[in-house]
Amino acid sequence: MVKCAYPESIQSEHMNTLEQLNFDNTFARLPDVFHSRLDPTPLPAPYLVSFNADAAALIDMPADEAARPDFAEYFSGNRLPPGSEPLAMLYAGHQFGYYVPQLGDGRAILLGEIRNRAGETWDVQIKGAGRTPYSRQGDGRAVLRSSIREYLCSEAMHGLGIPSTRALCIVGSDVPVYRETRETAAVITRLAPSHVRFGSFEVFYYRQQYAHIATLADYVIAKHFPHLHGLADKYVRFLQEVVTRTAHLMAQWQAVGFAHGVMNTDNMSILGLTFDYGPFGFMERYDPAFICNHSDTEGRYAFHQQPQIGLWNLSALAQALTPLVAEEESSALLENYSAIFWTYGTALMRQKLGLSQAQEGDLDLVIALLDMMQDSQLDYTNLFRDLGRFDSAPDSVNEMLRDQFVDRAAFNAWAARYRTRLHGEASVDAERKARMDKVNPKYVLRNHLAQTAISQAQQRDFSEVDRLLRLLRAPYAEQPGMERYALPAPAEMPRIEVSCSS
Ligand code: AMP
Ligand code: MG
Repeated sequence: MVKCAYPESIQSEHMNTLEQLNFDNTFARLPDVFHSRLDPTPLPAPYLVSFNADAAALIDMPADEAARPDFAEYFSGNRLPPGSEPLAMLYAGHQFGYYVPQLGDGRAILLGEIRNRAGETWDVQIKGAGRTPYSRQGDGRAVLRSSIREYLCSEAMHGLGIPSTRALCIVGSDVPVYRETRETAAVITRLAPSHVRFGSFEVFYYRQQYAHIATLADYVIAKHFPHLHGLADKYVRFLQEVVTRTAHLMAQWQAVGFAHGVMNTDNMSILGLTFDYGPFGFMERYDPAFICNHSDTEGRYAFHQQPQIGLWNLSALAQALTPLVAEEESSALLENYSAIFWTYGTALMRQKLGLSQAQEGDLDLVIALLDMMQDSQLDYTNLFRDLGRFDSAPDSVNEMLRDQFVDRAAFNAWAARYRTRLHGEASVDAERKARMDKVNPKYVLRNHLAQTAISQAQQRDFSEVDRLLRLLRAPYAEQPGMERYALPAPAEMPRIEVSCSS
């Protein structure tokens, strides 16, 4: 278990026990049409699987609360912290391109929002907490496997500096849950400034309840975009900001080789956070058409489709906002998406090459490298990390890099271009490496790493979950002794198939 990171004095002065959490439930105060109030379904004999002290600090909760014997009772939903007002949120969404008129939290329950001493508010949501009015055919549960994947990946993304929901803890139970095979149940506690999604707006558009769209937009603006509050064109600007955040998020995903897998509009955060982790995957061998979700047979959400799908989803949001933002205005915003994505994405890729200045042709240099990586089936994460050690001296052959490529002549030609480009901005190798190591991670949540932690956790050994949590908190650091966690999946390991079923 992760030890408390705060000095005792800070803990007692500024931290709150589970009974003292400072709830301020603004979403619960919205009209009833936005949610259904209900209690979680009790989870038999819950036990703590993992606890994340970093996330606990966000809600001013001291880490030693996790040692309480009743901690798992609270974060299974069996006991409610005072001040919570549990509810399931209503939303709809486009799933794989088709509109589904009613989704909603089918297994997640928002306990409430906690206002911390820094003035931020954090939604506390327990996922896998039982059936709700929106469960449709589902059992309302989540399995330990998918809960560990979400827990680790949300913290890994945060460690990478990519906006994401956070994860406080996982509680497990031996109660069986049936997916493709028999598994066991778990509840993950998710923290986020908001769980409002594109689909939260869509539901009222398709029901033609336009007043509710304005109510929700006003709520989101007042709480999360307060600088827009009161402006005559606040809705246009709000949409503009969502477009920008989404374009930036897509650029960040592409830069680290992250594929989300289920980019339905109900999984698109209105705050531009990486949201709802399911069959995601970090790319190992570079393949732009990488499909991480085994259920995505058509490759709608393939890696290279993500930026386009981001735009498609924003168009669905813009459609839902037409009662507030005229179509001419929203189409102008959507037309900007591509420029925002490419400007930011190119800047990120330039950083990955360690370039300080922006020059014409930088993107070509990146694309040429990616093409070679694809031909040689190289590991996306590791190749960029290795590139930090590129020696720009004129006589250097950069053997360590060169020998990874099948076509060495092509690498030599590329290296000559790169060298010239570096010399052109008077780049200093050691400084460039230091810069590159801050943007090219050494450690990402490879599926096989998650799978090892899951298999051990299924045998009641949770130490690997905690180890990965610590590792992925600092993905850019070398972390001596942990090098094997930077290796791609062993060739003999069967390909891990992850699908929508979780
Ligand atoms: P997801 O694919 O996890 O984003 O979920 C899509 C929709 O299905 C959401 O409305 C979920 O709440 C719902 N859902 C997913 N799994 C379950 C389940 N086991 N029980 C009830 N609802 C579920
Ligand atoms: Mg979802």
